Amino acid sequence: MSEYRENNVTSRNERRRRRRRQAMIRRVCFGIIFAALIALIILLCIKIFGGGGSSEQTETTPQQQGQSSENGESQAPETGSSNQAAIDEAAILAAQYDYDAAIEKLKGIAGYQDKKEITDLIADYELTRDTCVTVDMSTVPHVFFHTLICDFNRCFKSSHNQSLMNGYNAWMVTVDEFKECIRQLYDLGYVIINIGDSYTKDADGNYSMSTDVKLPTGKKALILSYDDTCYYCQYMDWGMADRVILDENGDLKCEYTDESGNTTVGDYDHIPILIDFCREHPDFAWHGHKGTLALTGYDGILGYRTEFRMFDYPTGDETAWLQANPWCQKSEIETYKEQAKVIVQALKDNGYEFASHTWGHRHADQKGLDWLKQDTEWWCERVESLTGDTDIFVFPHGGDIGSGDDYTSSNEKYSYLKSMGFGVFCGVDGTSLYWNQYRSGYVRQSRINIDGINMYQTLQGKATALTKLGLDVEKIFDTRRPTPITAS
Ligand SMILES: [Zn+2]
Repeated sequence: MSEYRENNVTSRNERRRRRRRQAMIRRVCFGIIFAALIALIILLCIKIFGGGGSSEQTETTPQQQGQSSENGESQAPETGSSNQAAIDEAAILAAQYDYDAAIEKLKGIAGYQDKKEITDLIADYELTRDTCVTVDMSTVPHVFFHTLICDFNRCFKSSHNQSLMNGYNAWMVTVDEFKECIRQLYDLGYVIINIGDSYTKDADGNYSMSTDVKLPTGKKALILSYDDTCYYCQYMDWGMADRVILDENGDLKCEYTDESGNTTVGDYDHIPILIDFCREHPDFAWHGHKGTLALTGYDGILGYRTEFRMFDYPTGDETAWLQANPWCQKSEIETYKEQAKVIVQALKDNGYEFASHTWGHRHADQKGLDWLKQDTEWWCERVESLTGDTDIFVFPHGGDIGSGDDYTSSNEKYSYLKSMGFGVFCGVDGTSLYWNQYRSGYVRQSRINIDGINMYQTLQGKATALTKLGLDVEKIFDTRRPTPITAS
């Protein structure tokens, strides 16, 4: 090969190598740019669609918070909405003096130990709980109400039977009087408890005073009960509610049918009024309790005709009675029972409990043992089957089966009621602030009647328990009431 040819070949190879090198450099550069572009796109996607960055974390949904809590990766903000709901629920429980439940609720928040706001609240509730004082049940007053008059003019219209009107004037308070009364009781520092909160019963059936109720200094326990929340047929046309119902929101309300026959739903009796009041003032109801409903059975319960009064009047004219009460369909009794059970459960869920007020509402002190046996069997069979078990017996008309001395086994009525499972007995005394007997065999309490007659007597200067409670009766009493008000 000539030198020229050799040189020529060498330079050709050189050019080829140079071209290959340049092509490789271009490929490498393109690859680097491409990889950088991909990386940039990925970063942008992460930025736009979440997964990082502190500002987006504060906007996570409750569901996302729940998921992260469940995974043990507590990414939730300090006061996410689910945490806030738990804090709010705990605040209501604490207001109702149920500090342990409030603390439990807060400890249910994931990672609560690392959240100062929560641990401060827990410490706060623990401190308040530990400064509460055990209530001495032997000094707790017990007050009771009847069904309220929601239409004053209708109740006290001149065409009414005067004797019955005198009765309602004496036993009932109006809706406005009740509202003023509970407002005053609340302002006086009273806190509602049920009869069942005042005592305990051990496994052997022995009774003792409860030490479970503890309240902050300045608060006072008050046992509350209600008689005859049955909306008897005889209340028709007297301006009182028809029955307790659940409205479309699931709230307990009352139905009322006015003189024109229009039925409306509202706060026509003590149950919806007190529930509303306690919603605004949860510290008025210990553990949310709102009192004990003492029910008879002869006209059904809570406005549901779970049976007919004809059972109580075997010689009565059933056809005539049914014609006079056309809203009652005897064939629907089983339906009424099912409806009543739903209301009973809703009442229990709202802090109410139930007691016997006898089936036929007769004077247990005056009637014989045979009557008591028949009546109690009927109550247990026909009312307790709807309300659930109770050992509380509220005497109709305050007719206690004994004197102020202790009950003994020689008292046949007492022994019989004990054998039927009753051990807590309530009478009426409108003058004493409290009167009770806590014995191993039974509990006995007298109750203060807050009604027309006791208010009227207070205004007449008589020493009643209403002033001892601290009530300003002048501010409560409706001066449109016919006076004088006398016991009927
Ligand atoms: Zn009664």
